[in-house]
Amino acid sequence: MQRISILGATGSIGESTLDVVSRHPDRYQVHALTAHSKVEQLALLCERFRPAVAVVGSADAAARLSGLLAQRQVRTEVAWGEAALCQVSSAAETDVVMAAIVGAAGLAPTLAAARAGKKILLANKEALVMSGQLFMDAVAASGATLLPIDSEHNAVFQCLPVGYQRLPAGHGIARIVLTASGGPFLQREVATLDSVTPEEAVAHPNWVMGRKISVDSATMMNKGLEVIEAHWLFGASADQIDVLIHPQSVIHSMVSYVDGSVLAQLGNPDMRTPIAHALAWPERIASGVGALDLAAVAQLRFERPDLQRFPCLKLAYDALREGGSAATILNAANEIAVDAFLNRRIGFRTIDHLIATVLERLPAQPVTDIPGLLEQDEQARQLTRTLIPS
Ligand code: NAD
Ligand code: MG
Repeated sequence: MQRISILGATGSIGESTLDVVSRHPDRYQVHALTAHSKVEQLALLCERFRPAVAVVGSADAAARLSGLLAQRQVRTEVAWGEAALCQVSSAAETDVVMAAIVGAAGLAPTLAAARAGKKILLANKEALVMSGQLFMDAVAASGATLLPIDSEHNAVFQCLPVGYQRLPAGHGIARIVLTASGGPFLQREVATLDSVTPEEAVAHPNWVMGRKISVDSATMMNKGLEVIEAHWLFGASADQIDVLIHPQSVIHSMVSYVDGSVLAQLGNPDMRTPIAHALAWPERIASGVGALDLAAVAQLRFERPDLQRFPCLKLAYDALREGGSAATILNAANEIAVDAFLNRRIGFRTIDHLIATVLERLPAQPVTDIPGLLEQDEQARQLTRTLIPS
């Protein structure tokens, strides 16, 4: 029996994780569930999955959750705040941590899981993008197992040789090819992009996801963050990672070998596949995802990304090449800009303009420890906020 803590249990990935877990009660037991503010939803999940601990974002939310659990006679312990998140992700009572909080808020608990040597199912790409080497060092030092949930990275992982050691050349690997749907604005007239609404931006053609990652998919910053994520997970340089637009999202990514072979992982676009893969790895379990019907799909299309249409992708490649805290700054500016766009304070194209300006004005610094990293993150957030008209 594996005991699992699910950080971000009320989100899209959290929900899919609980769906897979509920199909295998003989294998998985929930130790902790966390949510930021969706207290009612978390109370229902506690009633259903009976975790030992539930964590929310504030004292007020904790009081409301305790009230709801008492009414339902659910004996889950309630805690709140970042220290409690770190506590459940490093607790002796948990074997597996699903890191599915969105954004930098997930860094501390994901890092705590890494330091405690847990099996980490990493959905929270922002945590890895912002902390890079420091995160990978923590994983190596504790012997934690890091398994990618992001569908592209999970696909690459499945196409790599067993025992892969983060050295592409040592395994005959020429390139890693991350596929991208292109999001909702792949065909839209570039000149009209600034007038798109948050509703249009979050309407992803193939995947149902949280609002932040949906906007990231529309700007393709999501793919940019994934290029940086692939660099850290697989030890590939920016030049060894390609992005290929594939609007059907059937091929989830590929690995190209020096002998000309290309291995791909295919499936229906449903996050329960990578979640089930990582949960059971190296075994395989049912995920609830139906069989892929390639005859029904009929055609797979591919094209190269247009960096004029998707400047965020170029900004991310540039940040990866620059190194140091550039990716931390990129991620922080993006989080603030996307939030401002979702709250209708800036237009869609202002997202990439803001990030470019912040990267220009804040020179990247070497990153040697977490406090230094958080300082860079905070500086970038503050500068981005000052550039947003109030
Ligand atoms: P979501 O918005 O649906 O859910 C986010 C979860 O994080 C919620 O449970 C929320 O309560 C929690 N949360 C938000 N802010 C928090 C804070 N400040 N402190 C603590 N908890 C907080 O997002 P999602 O789509 O499930 O994505 C989660 C992560 O997984 C993101 O990093 C995203 O990039 C990554 N991811 C998602 C998908 C997908 O298909 N949804 C695919 C690949 C990667
Ligand atoms: Mg992805």
